[in-house]
Amino acid sequence: MLTKAKKYLIEDVEYLLSHAKELRKSDKELADRYAKIAYNMITKNKLGMKREQKLLICKNCNRLLIPGDTAIVRLYKGAVTYKCLNCGKIVRISYAKRE
Ligand SMILES: [Zn+2]
Repeated sequence: MLTKAKKYLIEDVEYLLSHAKELRKSDKELADRYAKIAYNMITKNKLGMKREQKLLICKNCNRLLIPGDTAIVRLYKGAVTYKCLNCGKIVRISYAKRE
């Protein structure tokens, strides 16, 4: 069960990430900071990352992953792989068994 506090936190995280995505083109540093704050909120409060969020923030350096800009996207063996161009970390999410 989600408590009320957690619900608000999840909303805040989504708000931060949507702004980070918008800011990506105009203010890179601020967008990365938003992503980092959102990631800290997720991990400290054990909110759990959604599928889209896993592909949006690099777990290693906490920067925004934007396909074609800060990340390379490849399809390999039934999975989407995102490679962070900042630290080289690879995120791999399977699309084969999606329900
Ligand atoms: Zn990274």
